[in-house]
Amino acid sequence: MSIRVSNLRLPVEEPEAALPTHLARTLGVQASELTRWRIVRKALDLRDKRQLRFVYNFEVDLPADERAVVARASHAAQVELHEEPPFSMPEPGSEPLPHRPVVVGSGPGGLVCAYFLAQLGYKPIVLERGTKVNDRIRDVKTFDGGGAFHPESNYLFGEGGAGTFSDGKLTCRGTGPDVIRVLELFAECKGQQPGKPSILYYHRPHLGSNRLPAVVKAIRQRIEDLGGEVRFLTRVEDLQLTDGRLTGVNTSAGFIPASVVVLAIGHSARDTYRMLAARGVPMTQKPFQFGVRIEHRQEVVNAVQFGPRHERYEELLGNADYSLVASGTNDLFTFCMCAGGYIIPSVSQEGYFCTNGMSLSKRDSEFANSGLVVTVPVDAFEGTDVLAGMRLQEKYEAKAFEIGGGPAYRSPVQRARDFCATPHPRPRRSAATRGA
Ligand SMILES: Cc1cc2nc3c(=O)[nH]c(=O)nc-3n(C[C@H](O)[C@H](O)[C@H](O)COP(=O)(O)OP(=O)(O)OC[C@H]3O[C@@H](n4cnc5c(N)ncnc54)[C@H](O)[C@@H]3O)c2cc1C
Repeated sequence: MSIRVSNLRLPVEEPEAALPTHLARTLGVQASELTRWRIVRKALDLRDKRQLRFVYNFEVDLPADERAVVARASHAAQVELHEEPPFSMPEPGSEPLPHRPVVVGSGPGGLVCAYFLAQLGYKPIVLERGTKVNDRIRDVKTFDGGGAFHPESNYLFGEGGAGTFSDGKLTCRGTGPDVIRVLELFAECKGQQPGKPSILYYHRPHLGSNRLPAVVKAIRQRIEDLGGEVRFLTRVEDLQLTDGRLTGVNTSAGFIPASVVVLAIGHSARDTYRMLAARGVPMTQKPFQFGVRIEHRQEVVNAVQFGPRHERYEELLGNADYSLVASGTNDLFTFCMCAGGYIIPSVSQEGYFCTNGMSLSKRDSEFANSGLVVTVPVDAFEGTDVLAGMRLQEKYEAKAFEIGGGPAYRSPVQRARDFCATPHPRPRRSAATRGA
């Protein structure tokens, strides 16, 4: 049993070194009595622009009678007894597998899966269609510089998957010991940055694209040290089924026997999804988000979010981010906002175009950008078969490629003001903006 202290609000100027004093005062004990304490969550409260605050939640162990401490604690924060079971790995199976398990894809999903399998002694084989991260960085730079598009080594395919060139926002809507364990893995693998709030508790943890290649390499190294293996330039092209049971995978580098295959192929491998559908692998349609990227000057975002003292807060907190929801017949919302970031061509298929956003760990570009999306429900897919949504994405990505001028992979761009001035079908109710 420990004590959970929630909603302790402190000015953003207050250093973390002063937290034991505040915590002890809230609990009515001496700071020296805090045997063990940790921040569970640290969130920025922007509502009162005169004084921005961090809102903290803590977990504390005390040698004293914890019930008595809770009973007499100050009302500056919510204080209660708390018990959370620690993360525990599932028990490994008892029957040996005929072959090593195969994980297809080395994105965040595949790497984390392979790491935990390797920890349990399964010696997984990870199959990745793209190249090692260093070769990928070279291919992406060539593409960005106007050079050739590499269909297997690009912003989405290769070591670390889409994760490697992502913005590195480690936001997770779930909580609990399993989420913490994955964040711990990222932190252990070079994810923790000196001078920044810990990714283990900050409400919007951010690594930045420049730090992700090292994280990805460090996780691969761990998998290999535990007896696992990562094979690059190995694209899974078909499943081998015998009497309805999986017996292996056919790859661009030959056949690999397997009775257990984890598909961690992300959302861009359309050829693989077509193969899986043709093989009768059960899949269901799923709504997806669709929209544009909006870009604005970061100084405008800082002034709106931080208020009249924004220059002072920029120094302390860096560039501000935001999220917006406009409620209407179909909610319009911002997604993957990149403070001090860049818009990039996240293309994985020749002849198609789409964008995404990223930023470096310092988030110091002059521009902020954000996805501005709506959810496309399955009944708008222009088809009822399982791949209809994917074809709809292809339709618009092919249009964007064409409008952008074809093989140069340039992004179609329009000023937001002009976009808003263009007559569009209106939702039935007028859209009201809430949240910031
Ligand atoms: C620019 C950008 C910014 C983003 N920013 C963020 C962010 O800040 N925060 C966030 O949470 N998310 C972000 N995302 C989304 C995030 O990157 C993805 O949600 C995440 O990478 C998905 O992980 P995954 O492992 O499921 O798939 P992926 O990362 O897509 O990895 C799938 C892997 O499988 C491989 N593969 C596919 N098919 C085969 C095959 N047949 N054989 C062998 N290998 C195959 C691919 O090459 C790829 O490496 C961003 C994405 C992009 C592109």
